Parts: sequence; C-alpha cells; structure tokens
Amino acid sequence: MTIFPALEIPNTLAAGPGPGNTDPRVLERLCKTGVADHMQADVVRGMIEAKQMLREVWGTKNTYTYGVAGTGFSGLDCVFSLILPGDKVVAFVNGTFSGIDGQAIRMKASSIQDLAADPLNPKPANVTVVNVPHGQSVTGEIVDAELAKHKPMWAFMAHWETGSGRVNDLKGFNDACAKHGVMGIVDAVSSLGVADFSIDDYPAIVAWASCPQKGVLSLPLTYAPVSFRDEAINLLARRGCYTYVHHPILEARHWGIVDGQDAAAVYHRTHSSYAVAAFHEALRILLTHTVKQKAADYAYHEAALKQAVQAMGCEVTSNMTSLVVLNLPGNLAGKEKELVTKCRAEGFAIWTTLSEPVQIRIGILNQLTVEAISDIIGRFVDAMINMGADIDKEAVMQGLNAYYTG
Ligand SMILES: *Cc1c(COP(=O)(O)O)cnc(C)c1O
Repeated sequence: MTIFPALEIPNTLAAGPGPGNTDPRVLERLCKTGVADHMQADVVRGMIEAKQMLREVWGTKNTYTYGVAGTGFSGLDCVFSLILPGDKVVAFVNGTFSGIDGQAIRMKASSIQDLAADPLNPKPANVTVVNVPHGQSVTGEIVDAELAKHKPMWAFMAHWETGSGRVNDLKGFNDACAKHGVMGIVDAVSSLGVADFSIDDYPAIVAWASCPQKGVLSLPLTYAPVSFRDEAINLLARRGCYTYVHHPILEARHWGIVDGQDAAAVYHRTHSSYAVAAFHEALRILLTHTVKQKAADYAYHEAALKQAVQAMGCEVTSNMTSLVVLNLPGNLAGKEKELVTKCRAEGFAIWTTLSEPVQIRIGILNQLTVEAISDIIGRFVDAMINMGADIDKEAVMQGLNAYYTG
C-alpha cells in the first residue's frame, strides 16, 4: 500500500477563463466555519440568506432561485432536466461549452433507442443543433430564423461562450423565443457576476444556470446558481423529470422553497457548512461591489489587456469583458500550445482553446487592479519574447501606463 505525502498545491496566477482567483475573505469563511450539520439553524439561515442575495445579484423575483452543489455543469444538469425524451429542442452552439451543453441536451431529449444507437453522443432527431462558427456570436436573427423553421418547445443558448470568448445576443434570443412561443434556457456560467444584466428583463427565458467559480468567485466547491420562472416549475410539476438529486423542485426545498413559496427548509441532501459560508461571503462581496460597478471594472481592465496584446501584434477575436481570446502574430502562429505550456509551468495559468481552432485565452477574473493587469501583461510579454517574438517590452508597458493614466 502506498500512502502519498500530504498534497501541496502551489498558488498560481489563475489568468484563464476560470476558475477566478478566490477572494481571501471567501477562503477565510471556509476555514473559520465550524462543523455543523445541514439542518443546523445557522447553516439553514445562511442558505436562505444566500438565496435572497442571489435573487438580488441576478435581478430576479423568481422564487426558484438557489444554488446546486457542484460546478457549472451541475447547475446546467439541473436546468436541462426540464427537457424530457422526445421534446423538440433547438440548441445554438458557438464553442466548446455550448457544444457540451448541446451534447447534454441531446442526452436528455433522447429515447432509449437514440441512446442505444450512440450512447455517449446521441443524436435524437427531435434536437436540432445550430452551429455558429467559432469566433462569431449567436445573433437574434439566427435564433429567429431557426425557431421559425423548427417550431421547437425549447431553445438553448450560452449567454457568454467562454470557449471562443463571444457574447451572444441575449435580448435577440429572448425576443425570438417570445415571438415563437418557445421556452428559452440559457447557460450564464461565464456572465453572472461579470455582466450587468437582470433575469427579469428576459421573460421568455424560463431557466438559467451559472457556476460558482467564474464571476461569483467562490471556487471552494460551492454552488452553481440556477433560476427558474414559474412557467418552467409548473410544467415540471405536471410532467416530472428523471433525477432526484438535481430535481429543480426537490432540490429547492433545502433552500427554503416549498410549493412555490419561501418556507422552512426541508432536507434534500447534506450541505456543507463550509461551502454555505463561502458562497454566502462571495455573494456579500459581489453585492457590496455592486454588479453594475463590477461590470464597468471588467470592461475597463479588459480594454487595457486587449490594447496591450494588440500592441504585441496579437489579433483579438473575443468580445467578452473577463477574457481575451487571441491569435499569435504570424511568426509565432502554431506555437500557442507550447507558449501556454511554458507559462503554466511557471504558475502563470493561461489557457489555449479546448476545441479548434487553437487560440490563446487570457482571463482577468478577480484581477481588477492596475497592478494585476500589469503583472499579467508583463508575464505574457516575457513569455512571447522567450519564444522569439520581437517585442519592445518597455513600449508595451508604457502603452499600458498611458491607458491607465490617460
Ligand atoms: C466554464 C463553463 C462551463 C462549465 O463549468 P464547470 O464549472 O467547469 O462545470 C459551462 N458553460 C460555460 C459557458 C462555461 O464558461
């Protein structure tokens, strides 16, 4: 038998699409929280307060707004459980994550025969996947045309596609869903806590899912926010779905949501006092900063990063404000993976894209200071120079300084 030494994990500069750098206050809540069971009064109170703060952060009166234990895909699994075998769905895909969402949707909408035909990647005829090329956004016109053509029950889109760094048209998606009488489902994993938007402005979108570790900045495995309009919950109450743990109605009970009302919490599964306290603190931090100010800060600092990498000769193809997706200049093209591997080995954790084409992704989650952005840019310039790029580092840093002081 082997007992390994205690696991030491270094602190890296998380400058990718996610997770973001966890706020020390969130970690402090995690460590300073006592052991208490999942029905202890303060744990339950923390969940109920978190639910209320989450409604505020997300701009919604939806009663069914709470957290699903786990990661972004846990929350997405909960919202996709609304979809039953045979349901007609149109899913818009423009990158890695919406691609995986499309796969998850195809699994949910499959019959037993569809699953048997291709168990890991079923292709039921009732699901249409509309592929929008990498680097482009899903527009309202595309959604309108496809919904008019297919007349589905459900439509799906990612708000911000982190694979390609593209912002998709939320209003266009909502309006097309409303026009064609379709229920919208949105992956807001990357946008919650970064973009300034309110769920209640998009009434045709009946289910939303996000994640703990991107804009909400509560990595220590906490909660994936979800929110459902009553139409979705009422449909679910009539039809049911094939999950206990991620059942949108049953899971909500532990957050004090019972029979469509805020009520006393009912056991659903064991929640961690540590996770509840960390998530609660992350929401407090976000509300104190305000979603509006946070969104403005991301836009301001992303513009600095974008301008600096363009000054290095990189071509930026993204339009998200938490992430820059870029092509290296001609003489370094094809060396993206090598460059990223070298940076990561030095604790500068940037990423390539996970699906074709190969591009570099640099993120700024919770890096909203001049010092943090300068550090990221300084390290990236050094890495490019080490790979043979002919860049005047001083000029790049001066340009950055000019942006911030100008
Ligand atoms: C990160 C991400 C996911 C997956 O989230 P996990 O926390 O890794 O499960 C899904 N969708 C989008 C748009 C994302 O950015």
